[in-house]
Amino acid sequence: MTENGDATPLVSLVGVNKHFGALHVLKNIDLTVDRGEVLVVIGPSGGGKSTLCRTINRLETIDEGQIIFDGTPLPEEGRALARLRSEVGMVFQSFNLFAHKTILGNVTLGPMKVRKKARKEASTRAMELLDRVGIANQADKYPAQLSGGQQQRVAIARALAMDPKLILFDEPTSALDPEMVQEVLDVMIGLARDGMTMVVVTHEMGFARRAANRVVFMADGQIIEQNTPDEFFTNARTDRARDFLSKIL
Ligand code: ADP
Ligand code: MG
Repeated sequence: MTENGDATPLVSLVGVNKHFGALHVLKNIDLTVDRGEVLVVIGPSGGGKSTLCRTINRLETIDEGQIIFDGTPLPEEGRALARLRSEVGMVFQSFNLFAHKTILGNVTLGPMKVRKKARKEASTRAMELLDRVGIANQADKYPAQLSGGQQQRVAIARALAMDPKLILFDEPTSALDPEMVQEVLDVMIGLARDGMTMVVVTHEMGFARRAANRVVFMADGQIIEQNTPDEFFTNARTDRARDFLSKIL
């Protein structure tokens, strides 16, 4: 149960299967994400973590099973799909900012185009969000003029500008120089504290320990185990997870 008293999960996947040709990339995935929960997904490369994220906002279709978002089965197309996409933010490894728009322009674009907000209102909100991620003084610059860590913080502000119910982070710090990782994680820890529902694919175990409510270990398209970070890191139940942890810790 969360602050707003709604005990139904924000997202639930039931018996989800997906193939890429002959490759069975998601195998009978059952998973729920509660409101306000921070779910960290870890596991070896190729295990299906990105595909899992992409199915949740329907960048990928599924072959079998059901994904229910905020009480409604995920639509395949049309207006309902557009609305769903606007309710689920996504932050990628590569920052994916619009190179020819200013930082402010990147953050106001979605609210103006999708939410039909007036420029003034969108700009005011964008500046608040840029301030929150510590970039307000760079608002008139272009993405290439910012460091990777700054660009990723802008990408987070851009996601927040749509007032999403969920933000998916797919290895948000993997492309960053090491000295810039923490500034991005700090922003994410702040969001977690503020109650944002987040699914985070990451190899940053310090983040998982500090911010995760639950860790999901995924390999070969399956959820191998899930647990609280404390239990998972000290008491992994499967050889597969113990082996993975021994390589990254
Ligand atoms: P992870 O994020 O855990 O590294 P992915 O979800 O990216 O794993 O990939 C899972 C498997 O699916 C990998 O074997 C990958 O090569 C394959 N795969 C991912 N995307 C595609 C695609 N668009 N077409 C074909 N195979 C894909
Ligand atoms: Mg991936």
